[in-house]
Amino acid sequence: MNERIAFFCIPAHGHTNPMIPVAAELTKRGARVRFYSFVPFEEKIRSSGAEFISCDRFLGDLTKAEEAGLKRVSAAEMTIQDLRITKAMDSFLSEEFAEYQPQVIYSDSVCFWGKLSAARHKIPLVISTSTFAFNELSCRDIRNSPAELADLVLGLPRISRELKSMEKYGYHIRNAMTLIASGNDTDTVVYTSKGFQPCAESFSDHYLFAGPSIPKDFPLKPKPKRPLIYISMGTVINERPGFYRTCMQALGDLDADIILSCGNAVDPSSLEPLPENFRVFPSVDQKDVLSGASLFLSHCGMNSVSESLFFGVPLILFPQTNEQKAVAARVKERNAGVLLEEDSAEAIRSAALKILNVQSYTEAAQDCRSEFLACPGPAGAAEFILQAPHAGNGRDPLKELRNETGKAMSAYYLGDLLLVLALRFGLKVKPAWLFGVLGLLASPLLQKKLMDRNYRKRIRS
Ligand code: UDP
Repeated sequence: MNERIAFFCIPAHGHTNPMIPVAAELTKRGARVRFYSFVPFEEKIRSSGAEFISCDRFLGDLTKAEEAGLKRVSAAEMTIQDLRITKAMDSFLSEEFAEYQPQVIYSDSVCFWGKLSAARHKIPLVISTSTFAFNELSCRDIRNSPAELADLVLGLPRISRELKSMEKYGYHIRNAMTLIASGNDTDTVVYTSKGFQPCAESFSDHYLFAGPSIPKDFPLKPKPKRPLIYISMGTVINERPGFYRTCMQALGDLDADIILSCGNAVDPSSLEPLPENFRVFPSVDQKDVLSGASLFLSHCGMNSVSESLFFGVPLILFPQTNEQKAVAARVKERNAGVLLEEDSAEAIRSAALKILNVQSYTEAAQDCRSEFLACPGPAGAAEFILQAPHAGNGRDPLKELRNETGKAMSAYYLGDLLLVLALRFGLKVKPAWLFGVLGLLASPLLQKKLMDRNYRKRIRS
């Protein structure tokens, strides 16, 4: 076997990490993997047996405002920068593909240059989704804050200009949404189980719910006598020295060992003096730590939560972004974690004691572990990529739901119109049009309710 696969990812640990075990599985099977990424990720990429191609020079120089936008995870700024990188990489990738001739591109879901180059060079694409799979049903609970909405609206003119400038490179993109969403006809790997994914039945069989990207034989360490608590706010928004100090205040006299990963932006020595039971590192081998931990206080990034539950470790849920809130909500629904409503020392301590003393949280996390172990895992994801493109069974559950709901909505609009006509011309009610307007205003809510009802009916049948 000598398949050639091209991997693409944005410069982010949370997006790169789940792709690494998949690359390792492919190289183990004799396939060639060429991973287009960035220097900070070189070592782990090479350790998977993949070739590493540095794309750092295409990141470009940023103005102070652009840098600040990326730092606060502005969706508009990220879209604009990703489109610029796509243009900067265009001729380089044409030369690369002419020489390497990849049979499949495996690209992160928000890595525009990977996805767009697959379409441009007509190479089968498989998407790697490091979050939940998103569609109009599954992302319903993710609400943008007013600041995020303002950021998007104010950024729209700049995004449109960038999209327009893509045309002369041969990329014709209808709107920014089509860059991110990838519909039910795209082969997609999601690193969770069907049971953990919200609204899983609305996705087609082009989706592989592979489970967390961790080899199934990753060893569990025996639990130490004194429980081990692990704390991390992930790799992106982790500059939280105040919060780390509050954790020390909350857990410093607990009969437990605590490992705190504070990220590269905080100097561990700045947090001294440390309580006797605390050890602080800028970064740790998280999977190794979790494999022997009893509790994880996490910002609820999808990878962190998946890794925690893979090792059967319950969580204190401290989500920061909307996406993390959706992940935390799912853990809470499964009873495998306690949501931290406020970041006070009392709240942290009481959540920790609750989880350590009430066995049901660990049992629920272990149920998730069993469910994850029954998934295809990184080996199944590698197989799925090697067999792409997939024909699929031709069924699109979301489209079917939309059609069903559309029919009911047409009947509703007709009923509303008939009511207005009857009121106006039968009963001579002059402001009859008001009923029409009210009916229209109520229609989005009704449509949402109908979609939900039809979805629930479908999973019951
Ligand atoms: N991670 C790690 N060591 C650390 C902190 C994090 O290896 O000290 C890894 C962790 O295992 C996970 C990723 O970084 O795979 C974080 O991804 P996640 O989606 O949880 O959060 P993000 O950093 O993207 O916010």
